[in-house]
Amino acid sequence: MKKTFWIRLALAGIIVSAAAAAALAGAVNKTPGMAVFIDRPTRGGHILILDPGHGGADGGAVSVTNTPESRINLDIALRARELASFFGVDTVMTRESEDIAYPDSAGTIRAKKVWDTKGRTELVNSVDNAFLISIHQNKFTSAKPSGSQVFYAPTEKSREAADIFQSKLLALAPGNRQNATQIPDSVYIMNHVDCPAVLIECGFISNIVEAKKLEDPEYQTALAATIVGAYLECVS
Ligand SMILES: [Zn+2]
Repeated sequence: MKKTFWIRLALAGIIVSAAAAAALAGAVNKTPGMAVFIDRPTRGGHILILDPGHGGADGGAVSVTNTPESRINLDIALRARELASFFGVDTVMTRESEDIAYPDSAGTIRAKKVWDTKGRTELVNSVDNAFLISIHQNKFTSAKPSGSQVFYAPTEKSREAADIFQSKLLALAPGNRQNATQIPDSVYIMNHVDCPAVLIECGFISNIVEAKKLEDPEYQTALAATIVGAYLECVS
């Protein structure tokens, strides 16, 4: 991780949740000049699974500035991973790049998507005490809507978690939706995982002002910090 990232992070004016601050109170820092490390095991014994939506043959939606949603999702998720590790949270990523190595048997785009979605779901369900955060961007036919929207899986603790994520994200990206919503049946991964799971539509890439923000590294860092802060509050 480059030093400039952390400088930008500081400049982004991160507001770490009270829970995160409380977590830090129990931190161990025996090496002068080094970052603070948190005791293992991680918060509540959970493993954070970050799922940057889409990727590979599936770019997701395309922003008004012609950026694939998959790229923005990945950028935010990678920043969230770095921040989470700073707080001693163990993370697993469902993908770490825009490229996905598909098997030869997945010949069509649809087959590739099905293979990838099922693989991500199996990965989540293979991790004990997982907590899934799936990261996406919204798109609408009108350029007007903006703001974040959080969905929850039909699993235990997901709704309560989603409400925390929604309230924190609204401070950064206010929108029309004040409350988290249950995920539609059509989203496979969110309806087939066993663990607490939220899906975050960080903002609207159909809105030119918000699309530009969502592609800005500093705003991505602020989003990642908000997401990690909400996660820490959920699992503390
Ligand atoms: Zn998406």
